[in-house]
Amino acid sequence: MFNHAPKALYIHIPFCTNKCHYCDFTSYVLRGQPVDAYLDALESEMERTVESLPPEEILTVFVGGGTPTVLTPPQMERFLTSVKKYFPIHPDAEFTMEANPGTTDLEKLTAMKAGGVNRISFGVQSFDNGLLERIGRIHNVEDVYRSIENARTAGFSNLSIDLMFGLPGQSVEQLSDSVNRALQLGLPHYSLYGLKVEENTLFHTLYERNELPLPPEEDELAMYMLLIDKLKAEGFHHYEISNFAKPGHESRHNITYWRNEPYYGLGAGAHGYARGERHVNIKGIQPYIDAAAQRLPRLETNPVPEHEAMEDFMMVGLRMLEGVNNDRFSAQFPGQTIESVFGEALETVLSQGLIEHTEGSGGGYRLSEKGIPLGNEVFGAFISG
Ligand code: SF4
Repeated sequence: MFNHAPKALYIHIPFCTNKCHYCDFTSYVLRGQPVDAYLDALESEMERTVESLPPEEILTVFVGGGTPTVLTPPQMERFLTSVKKYFPIHPDAEFTMEANPGTTDLEKLTAMKAGGVNRISFGVQSFDNGLLERIGRIHNVEDVYRSIENARTAGFSNLSIDLMFGLPGQSVEQLSDSVNRALQLGLPHYSLYGLKVEENTLFHTLYERNELPLPPEEDELAMYMLLIDKLKAEGFHHYEISNFAKPGHESRHNITYWRNEPYYGLGAGAHGYARGERHVNIKGIQPYIDAAAQRLPRLETNPVPEHEAMEDFMMVGLRMLEGVNNDRFSAQFPGQTIESVFGEALETVLSQGLIEHTEGSGGGYRLSEKGIPLGNEVFGAFISG
């Protein structure tokens, strides 16, 4: 396992203008929230974090949420200044911020750019206004076009958008239209997620009541396959189950997670992984603020047993279409090979044709074409339960 300081930094801003109907992230409706006190607490957490685990060099930063772009321009400036005060950000670091098209005017984007952000991931989800409303998004399609234009005016070129499929009432044709319109924007990165109905969401309540008209499973699969075909035809590299990039624009921060490498995680509800331990921070805003005034605001910290870390390595590593290899495996688990630990599971999924062997880097495995839409089945084979 890695003992060096993480080179990746995640910071959570847990506020949103509204709560989307499918969302189970740590996010709270902004109105009435003590945002400045939260930023103070975040700064305390930064200070305590670098004291307890001094960073060497940060190569990727990801500010997620929530909706980080609900911060006002002065709050944004102050927040980004504190990040740079505590963490030595490499001059070529990838610095991503999530943004909501309804919350990004030119002034804010300019503050983000001046503060070091160089990549924006927009939560667009769909180019169908009716559908956007049905899933509880606050923005419409016009906001998307305006935000992308503003981002370009502010000097951003490394832009990504998220789209969703398998939404209630969504047809394959609607999705196809959304993807065409997304591609017309000419961005270097697209993330495409299938809807998951999570507990404690409005959609879950509707689902339980049989009032959520999800597309049939075969349509959902057709949507996913259509996305892959369209993106590949446009020259995108399908580098992770849900992610597509023009070469050189893969999300370096997310690759840290998929390689099971350590990362700092700060903010309410944030997770982090360092020195063989995973932590989760306190989720509620006021409890987080109160705790951060006294100590590191942890809800829990747990050592990750080696076998569990190996399972994580396989589960997240196989999400990348390049797969996993023995060079990286033995760098994290000296003296072990993928075959010596997972011989039986490998045999099962190889014989089902769901993964295939790869050459180079000590040899490895990746999802086969048949295995890509059945990823969860494959990952499950490496978990001992
Ligand atoms: S904008 Fe994102 S984090 Fe906020 S409620 Fe919607 S899905 Fe959740």
